[in-house]
Amino acid sequence: MIEVQSFAHGKWIKPDNSARSICSAVDGSKIAVAGRASLDTQSMLHYARNEGGPALRALSFHDRAKRVKALAALLSEHTESLTQLAFNTGATRADSKVDIDGGIGTLFVYASKARRELPDDVVCTDGAVEQLSRHGTFVGQHIYTSKPGVAVHINAFNFPVWGMLEKLAPALLAGMPVIVKPATSTCYVTEACFRLMIESDLFPAGSMQLITGGTGELLNQLESQDIVSFTGSADTALQLKSNPKLLRACVPFNAEQDSLNASLLCPDVLPDSDTFNTFINEVCQEITSKAGQKCTAIRRIFTPLSLTDAVTEAVSARLASIKVGNPALETSQMGALVSLEQRTQVAEAASQIAQHAKLVFGESTVEVDGASATEGAFMSPMLFRCDTPDAADTLHSCEAFGPVSTVMPYRDLHHAAQLLNAGAGSLVASVVTDDPDYARTVTVASAAYHGRLYFNNQHSAKEATGHGSPLPHMTHGGPGRAGGGEELGGVRSIKHHMQRTAIQGSPDIVRAITGIHVNGASEHQSDTHPFRKHFGELQIGETLHAGPRIITLDDIEHFAHFTGDTFYAHMDEEAAKANPFFPGRVAHGYLLLSFAAGLFVDPDPGPVLANTGLDGLSFQKPVSAGDSLSVSLTVKRKTTRNDDYGEVRWQVLLFNQDSEQVASYELHTMNAL
Ligand code: NAP
Repeated sequence: MIEVQSFAHGKWIKPDNSARSICSAVDGSKIAVAGRASLDTQSMLHYARNEGGPALRALSFHDRAKRVKALAALLSEHTESLTQLAFNTGATRADSKVDIDGGIGTLFVYASKARRELPDDVVCTDGAVEQLSRHGTFVGQHIYTSKPGVAVHINAFNFPVWGMLEKLAPALLAGMPVIVKPATSTCYVTEACFRLMIESDLFPAGSMQLITGGTGELLNQLESQDIVSFTGSADTALQLKSNPKLLRACVPFNAEQDSLNASLLCPDVLPDSDTFNTFINEVCQEITSKAGQKCTAIRRIFTPLSLTDAVTEAVSARLASIKVGNPALETSQMGALVSLEQRTQVAEAASQIAQHAKLVFGESTVEVDGASATEGAFMSPMLFRCDTPDAADTLHSCEAFGPVSTVMPYRDLHHAAQLLNAGAGSLVASVVTDDPDYARTVTVASAAYHGRLYFNNQHSAKEATGHGSPLPHMTHGGPGRAGGGEELGGVRSIKHHMQRTAIQGSPDIVRAITGIHVNGASEHQSDTHPFRKHFGELQIGETLHAGPRIITLDDIEHFAHFTGDTFYAHMDEEAAKANPFFPGRVAHGYLLLSFAAGLFVDPDPGPVLANTGLDGLSFQKPVSAGDSLSVSLTVKRKTTRNDDYGEVRWQVLLFNQDSEQVASYELHTMNAL
């Protein structure tokens, strides 16, 4: 019997008499207890706010990212023990790969994105500097800083590891301590993973706490700098987010809840084609993976009228070949639902669906390999068919959170989009077509109702990541019925855990706050050429002025013939004059760039290791033969990349003899530390 513990104010706390029992999905036996009514949630919050938060916020984004990466590496060594434990939740090895390996992969992606896309700092910017004044002495910049509160994460039962890690990574990267509350039915898997994280000592004390069982007074004790991220059913979401104390304190509440996701087969697809088979594969995968207990699973299958029979037959044939069995057996393709109660709930939802649709595949009893079909929470996959989808609201609103789906025909693409949208907001809809015009039509008609639109066909099938896979790079969430929440989405989800503030002030003030040079801020001059300085020696705002150099007609012609760019604006006075942009023949923009480099570069080997690119190039004024060119090179921002070098971004401005800016860009170099 596992005594599932909570981890509160630095200590493991055992369940007490108030604990709830947890049964195995495989044989119904009691395997664990979890929960303690007397858990002191107020002191947990105090500990997180006063110990975990300040210690996390003392680390930069990069320091936090290094720890997240180390955590992922450590957990990778324990996937087998977690997989073994998860068999009792009904999850097969393949299911746990999504949950455990998927969760660890998510940590790796976050760590890498945070290192690449965020500064080695505690403040990050959002968008570009806004010019708020005529002469540039007053500017604006949106920034993000860490909230001094606690992130409370309430998770659903179906992904005990991924569900925790996909929320934990962005919160910790954002500098927020976390209290994790997993669903009780699978919390012993979460607790085992959490224990590894605590034992790793990678994050400061107070960064992570765990509540197994009920949350007691926790939600009533939250304040405006805290946030709640909830994943679960729409009913629980509604109950929790209507808590008057949360509403009064304006505690952000992010809800990821159930939705009636759909898959649409477009009319261009022929039966038995590769794209048709791709559709059948995806649908069957979503019905059986995690025994259909996925928030993204396909509940509604829309087919052209002419293909409804073919789809129904193909899906039924495939489902008939699925081996339901003890999840620990390698041969089992579908395991059990999480509990007998869950099976009862799914059966009830299926009987509501049956009032509007005909069961075309599925038995009330199922043959199970290696376990008892009645003692364990096993059930047969079920496929329904409804030929009157407009008259059956239940099919668009009743979520059977198990291996249950319904095939429905549509008349034309307009009707298909109406049916897709009838779910009133979903996490994901997939569209299977080889026709890009159909893809565009469905997008315009339906995108507003779905958090993700997933297109697949014979060309993308091999590499497509799957209808049901939320990815750490892309936002996961959906409007309306799906909860209106947003998770994942790379750096975007780190920012969800932070506060955005509009900063207004002089360029010097804004630069001091963000650590990024702002046009118009004072320049630092130095006697040493910046290319002779190591990464750590360069100061933000340090500026080199170089030039002037006169541009001649010979330069322009030489460059034109040397490169082959003999465009008329550089070579033909009459034609150039006729162009509304040019006074006559003008220098190539790329010639100006090359001359600028010739003016500011210091040639000898030194700390500048490579020029890795440029951004935001713009040519603002034509330069003619006889004009002169000067350049300013300013250290704009610096980001360490590893122990050997860091990236320097330089603001480069090009001027003519009248000090008018003619071009600008941001140059990227890698510099030795
Ligand atoms: P649930 O019953 O709504 O529970 C979700 C979480 O809320 C659990 O941790 C639960 O804890 C907790 N909870 C319930 N009442 C609470 C209360 N009064 N105070 C504090 N916490 C409370 O959902 P579930 O059965 O675990 O998960 C299945 C549902 O989640 C499905 O409807 C599915 O569609 C949805 N889901 C959505 C997503 C998504 O990303 N949109 C992902 C996965 C699942 P206990 O277990 O201790 O009751």
